[in-house]
Amino acid sequence: MATTVQVPQYDIHPEVQVDPEKTALIVVDMQNDFVKEGGTLRVPDAEATIPRIRTLLDLAHNTGMEVVYSQDTHNDGDPEWEIWPEHTRENTWGWQIVEEIAPQEGDTVLRKVRYDAFYGTHLDHFLRLWGTETLILCGTVANICVHYTAASAALRWYDIVIPRDATSALDPFDMESSLRQAAFLFSGRITESAGIRVQP
Ligand code: ZN
Repeated sequence: MATTVQVPQYDIHPEVQVDPEKTALIVVDMQNDFVKEGGTLRVPDAEATIPRIRTLLDLAHNTGMEVVYSQDTHNDGDPEWEIWPEHTRENTWGWQIVEEIAPQEGDTVLRKVRYDAFYGTHLDHFLRLWGTETLILCGTVANICVHYTAASAALRWYDIVIPRDATSALDPFDMESSLRQAAFLFSGRITESAGIRVQP
């Protein structure tokens, strides 16, 4: 039986200022299997976030922010396929990043094997080389790969910003519990994609 609980209060910032030289935009797992009709692990709300992620990408590219895409990548024998249906098999259509927001030259694409984009990747290495202090996280799934990447970033003392309209989950509980945790536990700033301002 479902239990009804109230989501505890957390702040949604109308505006968040970032320094583009110290900020990276992280686009999590916007791949066909998660986003598009015919994908094996589709999040129905993910497709609607594409225009907002496009806006964030334009802001990042126009202001010199680093852009990182994570690309969930699995092969035969991967234990994640015991938890979830087969998804994002390397070099398939479902594995590819959706074409509307395909990476551009100069963007960094990191293949990852678990929810956390730091796990087994060079993400932390690159962020330190770039002098990054703040991560703007968007993409899908809010309470899975976005959440565990945000958590892993916060544990390394990065500041995190989550534009909530540029992320998506399978149900509202998952979304709200993740955002509340990010605000409360990771000192994350929750905003909307239009609320991100570049410091003058
Ligand atoms: Zn996966």
